[in-house]
Order: sequence, then C-alpha cells, then structure tokens
Amino acid sequence: MADIIDGKKLAEEIKAAVKKEVEVLNKLGIDVGLALILVGDNPASKQYFLATLKACKKVGITAYEYKLPEAVTVNEILNIIHAVNIDERMNGLLILFPLPRRINARRVVNSIVPEKDIDGLGAISVGRLAADESTFQLFKDNYYEILHERRFMPSISSFMPCTPLGVIRLLEYYGVELKGRHAVVIGKSLAVGKPLSLMLLAKEATVTVCHSETKDLAGFTRQADIICTATGVKGLIKGDMVKEGAVVVDVGINVLDDGRIVGDVDFGSVAEKASLITPVPGGVGPVTIAMLLENTLRSAQRNELLKSPLMMA
Ligand code: NAD
Repeated sequence: MADIIDGKKLAEEIKAAVKKEVEVLNKLGIDVGLALILVGDNPASKQYFLATLKACKKVGITAYEYKLPEAVTVNEILNIIHAVNIDERMNGLLILFPLPRRINARRVVNSIVPEKDIDGLGAISVGRLAADESTFQLFKDNYYEILHERRFMPSISSFMPCTPLGVIRLLEYYGVELKGRHAVVIGKSLAVGKPLSLMLLAKEATVTVCHSETKDLAGFTRQADIICTATGVKGLIKGDMVKEGAVVVDVGINVLDDGRIVGDVDFGSVAEKASLITPVPGGVGPVTIAMLLENTLRSAQRNELLKSPLMMA
C-alpha cells in the first residue's frame, strides 16, 4: 500500500519560509506585490483567484486585483499588463486562465515582461526553461546563494511554471530519486505536461511524454518508475497500468456532480501498487500556490539584488 504524499504540509512549509523572507524585505522598506488579472466569471478561475489572494495575505504579499468583465477587449488587457510591467510595487503578474476564446492568450502572456512572468508561461520563460537557462533553480533552495554564484547571471534567469515546479518540489521533499529513472508524463500542455517533462529532463530522468493520441498508454505507464499525469480525465490511470512500487503524481482536477474533486488516477486501485502517491485534493494543488508566492518573492529579491551596487563588484 502506497504512502500518501502530503502536499498541504510542504505548501505550509514553503509559505512559512516565504513569509519570513518577505518580512526581511519589509524591514528594509521593500514591499512584495503580486498583480492578478481575472477576466469574466469562470468558477474554477474565481476559486483560484480567491485562494491566491488568501495565500498572499497569509505571507504578507500585497495583492493588486484586476477583475475584468467577460467583454473586455484585448487592448484593455494589454494596457493593464503594460502598466503592471513598469509598476515598481508589483513583482509578479498572474493571469487566470482560461481567457475568453476570442482573446489570443499567447499574445497576452507574451506581453508580460519575463522578470514579472512568475508563472513562467511567456515565450521567453518557456525558451529559457528549454535552453536550461533557468533550470538551475531546480537544484538549489537558496536563491541568494545562486545569485551570488557568478556563473549564474540573473539577467538570463526566468521563472518556471508553478504547477510542474511544485511537482518537482514534492518529489524531492519525499526523497524520490529522479536521475536515471524512467518518468512517464501524461499530458503535453504548456502549463503542465511540457514544462514538467523539461524539468524532469533537467534532473536527468529518462522522460516519455504521452498524450491523447498516444497508442497503448498502459504500455508506457507500466514501464514507469514515476508517473505524472495531468489530463483532466477522471479515472484514466488504473492499478493494472502501474508497475509495483512506482511513484504516482496526479495533477488532474475533476469536479464530480456531487461536488467532490478527484484527479486522473483511480486512487484505490493505484494506491495498492504504488509506493508513493499524491491525493486529490491535497497533493499538487496546494504546492502550486506556494510556488507562485515563492516565485513572486524571488522576483522581488532579484529586483533588489539587480539594483544593488554589490552585484557589479
Ligand atoms: P490541457 O487540457 O491543456 O491538457 C490536457 C492534456 O492531457 C493534453 O496534452 C492531452 O493530450 C492530454 N490528454 C487528454 N486526454 C488524454 C487521454 N485520454 N490520454 C492521454 N492523454 C490525454 O490541461 P492542463 O492545463 O494541462 O491541465 C490538466 C489537468 O491538470 C486538468 O485537470 C487541470 O484542472 C489540472 N491542473 C491542476 C493544477 C494544480 O495545481 N493541481 C494546475 C493546472 C492544471
């Protein structure tokens, strides 16, 4: 029977650490700010928006809310992004997805300056992740230390998407070795599957990416030491698709008719085979928000360090 990964515990630890470092900045007269843009009233986005506001409050990050009507034009959104880009009070910008279909989401995301793209979804952030220019953040906890290692130029660093970053943090928290192990990622979205595959590669796992057109999904998952699924398909992964002792991370979120939330994994049958498994809820979800706060803090720290004459020494 699998041990259950406690995402809430890790999230609380990350938030406590963020709070401490926010207080250090506050003592220097520096406020940490996060801008949030919510368009329309998608219930899931609204819920995430509110959860993020609450989390910001808990760690002392000032939230700047932009709630826009469904009928907003792309230019109105871009104007807000341009204003946030140059607003010194705001260290990060989060846009809640999905945006209305008529709005080109890539155009919107790409207009965030990389320094404030704390969810790492803009083309520059994605490119830097793929080029291993930002993956050093997967190897060290202390950002200050990294910045002081001269070979890592902060100007070429970007932020990594919070959900896959949270998955890596969870795996590390539970001491899961990634180097040389076979990780099967299911889902290839820009927000989860694709960046997670790149992060696992950076950690020197052997990575297989499966998606909706993959033939014989079970043939791949049965070979996996680590399965990470992010599809939004309830019950996709069943016990007979999992190797004995595998680690299973379920990113999926599906709301049932009775209001319960489940992931992609048939928890009961998979937990019998796996050695370690994330629950839904209480697994990856809480860590995602914690990573968002951590990235916002790091943006603020980097902003200060870049302005410091010490960096030029
Ligand atoms: P998406 O719709 O953009 O991508 C889904 C991916 O799943 C696609 O790449 C698709 O090819 C693949 N897929 C769909 N059906 C499949 C099947 N039958 N077999 C194999 N692959 C299949 O979604 P997304 O934004 O990547 O999110 C995926 C899931 O993760 C959703 O349930 C979402 O709610 C959840 N999510 C959770 C968090 C969190 O913090 N826990 C964050 C983001 C997304």
